[in-house]
Amino acid sequence: MSSKEVLDAIASEIVVCTKCRLSRGRKNAVPGEGSPESQIMFIGEGPGRTEDIEGRPFVGQAGKFLNALLSNAFLVRENVFICNVVRCRPPRNRAPLQNEVQACTPYLDRQMKIIQPKVVVTLGNCSTAYVFSKANLPFKGITQVHGKFFEKTLSGMRVTLFPSFHPAAALYSVKYEEQLTKDFQALRSEVLKRKLADSSS
Ligand code: URA
Repeated sequence: MSSKEVLDAIASEIVVCTKCRLSRGRKNAVPGEGSPESQIMFIGEGPGRTEDIEGRPFVGQAGKFLNALLSNAFLVRENVFICNVVRCRPPRNRAPLQNEVQACTPYLDRQMKIIQPKVVVTLGNCSTAYVFSKANLPFKGITQVHGKFFEKTLSGMRVTLFPSFHPAAALYSVKYEEQLTKDFQALRSEVLKRKLADSSS
């Protein structure tokens, strides 16, 4: 099977998943989307209202801001891979509970193994906490680690982790908008240095 076929097979499992109670409230599960060959993977928290309706990640207001950040970093959205920690919308957009994260993250782990990204960008506390714990890195909150690069081994893969704030934070605070913009400037330098945009644009 090609990487695309394996990713499609994982997506078909996700759309009918009933492993946690978030499945009961969804209109659509959101498996994630992008290129199987992507060298960069972006991980958010969980679908919001628009994502639940469309079945696609980051297509609401936060997604519009993420699109702008991506193009500032010379990245083409279709050529990176974008997904979330949980694949069904939590009620009233609350943070996912630990048991929901536990039920859902095997999908993320499997997608990551297929894509083998060189850089993993975690957006916000939830995805950073999950990935840092997998990488045995201490985590005391996104404010302390955002905008820095961490070279780690994750499930046997050598990856560069790059935590940033969640794009939704920029919608209610100029301070976070500025921080995100700065973080993505650092990401852009790394993308250029490692020629990651060439293969993803
Ligand atoms: N927020 C997220 O964390 N993920 C999405 O897909 C949309 C909003």
